[in-house]
Amino acid sequence: MTELPTAAIPGLDPERVLDCIHCGICLSVCPTFDLLGTEGDSPRGRIYFVRGLMEGRMEMNSTLVRHLDSCLGCRACETACPSGVQYGEILIHARDLVEKQHPRSSREKLARQTLLDLLTQPGKLAPLLWSAKTAARLAAGGMVRKANQFLFGPNAPELPLPQNAGMRVEPLEPFTPAQTPRRARVALLGGCVMQVLFQRVNRATIRVLARNGCDVVVPTGTQCCGALHAHNGDLDGARHRACGLIEMLEREQFDALISNSAGCGAAIKEYGALFHGDPHWEPRARAIAEKTRDASEFLAHLGLLPPDRPTRKRATYHDACHLAHGQKVRSEPRALLQAIPGLELVELPNADWCCGSAGIYNFLEPELASRLQDTKVGHVLSVKPDLVITGNPGCHAWIEAGLRRRDSPIPLKHTLEVLDEAYSH
Ligand code: SF4
Ligand code: SF4
Repeated sequence: MTELPTAAIPGLDPERVLDCIHCGICLSVCPTFDLLGTEGDSPRGRIYFVRGLMEGRMEMNSTLVRHLDSCLGCRACETACPSGVQYGEILIHARDLVEKQHPRSSREKLARQTLLDLLTQPGKLAPLLWSAKTAARLAAGGMVRKANQFLFGPNAPELPLPQNAGMRVEPLEPFTPAQTPRRARVALLGGCVMQVLFQRVNRATIRVLARNGCDVVVPTGTQCCGALHAHNGDLDGARHRACGLIEMLEREQFDALISNSAGCGAAIKEYGALFHGDPHWEPRARAIAEKTRDASEFLAHLGLLPPDRPTRKRATYHDACHLAHGQKVRSEPRALLQAIPGLELVELPNADWCCGSAGIYNFLEPELASRLQDTKVGHVLSVKPDLVITGNPGCHAWIEAGLRRRDSPIPLKHTLEVLDEAYSH
């Protein structure tokens, strides 16, 4: 009989690590194993380290932390695993333990904290972006680059700002009525990064939902779901944000909570596990999780009203990891796009292979992230599309930045933006 690990990692069911049967099937889909070729940078190797920590056979040292840091959290290994290993859950708890027990340099701590603070607070992110853009216009871009390099090292990427990014938060309409016979009442998660960088996607999402018979409410208040905190070793911070979001949503009546950001949708769908064992919050978290749908998933299941504006574009679709692997939503966005008259959808090679953005990974691990970005951009260029479509803000901005670095003008759009343009409103 297999012996259970003895030293618990708070919140992680010890049996989770025993699900791994060491078969190695996941190795061929793991981007970091592909790049680095070392067992420690594979899913199997990382699970082995976590089990070693739990059994007291290993200690938290910088080698072990390095292997956990290099993981993208893309969860391609979960899709491949024949044994049902919940790798994402193992990773977030192991990283939480790392941040509690492993001393990081003050620069590293500052870099992580700054990113989490800025990206999840629209009121701070918007003025920062405005200042960075103004500095670039005033030929003071070097100062911004230096600050960036001070925090994130010599290979720090430029801020991957998407085209037409908003520079201030413009509140969304709190209520938009259905434009066709009413079929549902939905709440849209405005998001934190989405509210600043991708306001146009939020507005397009509202229009498409209303066009498809949905009353759309946009609750006001806390919008950060805690996903970035959970993925980067701050589960208390994630729970704190999740509680705020749950309380805000409980004040509204809706049939479904719609997310147009793959990372946020995946995190909210897993709120039950985040509050596992908490009698006050777990049932409330599960109730919200059960109502959460990615916008493409919701529309595909509702039944999309046929788009009426033909196009003549050749497009390709990049699967965001937290949509394809985290939420298992792959066919729905493709089906919606194929409903657009005249849109030619060509498959991207390795469409569900991580682009390297991975939340704040591109800042924390710029070399690995840039190699993955290059590969993704190479695949995009190989299919010669007029347009790249995806469903997550991080991938959107990162792939776009990679294309611009290669002097390619190919635009990126969110699935809901493309659908929005396919309707005459
Ligand atoms: S595929 Fe699953 S069971 Fe096999 S080594 Fe990878 S995580 Fe373990
Ligand atoms: S989450 Fe991605 S990078 Fe991490 S072990 Fe799994 S496949 Fe590899």
